[in-house]
Amino acid sequence: MPDNKFFWDAAKEDRFVGQRCGDCGHYRFPLRPMCPKCHSLNTEEVELSGKAKVVSWIRPRHPMPFGFKALPTVVVVELEEGFRFVSNLEGIAFEDVTAGLEVEVAFVETMGKAKVPVFRPLGGGA
Ligand SMILES: [Zn+2]
Repeated sequence: MPDNKFFWDAAKEDRFVGQRCGDCGHYRFPLRPMCPKCHSLNTEEVELSGKAKVVSWIRPRHPMPFGFKALPTVVVVELEEGFRFVSNLEGIAFEDVTAGLEVEVAFVETMGKAKVPVFRPLGGGA
């Protein structure tokens, strides 16, 4: 996925980045070469705050997703920048997750030595 390469390169350095339209400023997510709003091909790579709020969450039952030691809680979060991102939530029990919970991005290493973004409760959590 050449369009996503910058995202994974940044992840290796613990940076959470996104794409923004160089013309109208619309955030492009999922990452794509053309702006869905104004069809511009101008792209800006922007650093995201990594702060988000939980929108919904599920716990997949099986099979165990590859590369994870424990069963993750899969969340949809709304980023401060206004778009949604699917990730895993760590550092909080599944039963304790609430809608609107404030979370922050963190990067964890996978078995393949890549890093993936996960979210953890803001200002706390183990
Ligand atoms: Zn645009």
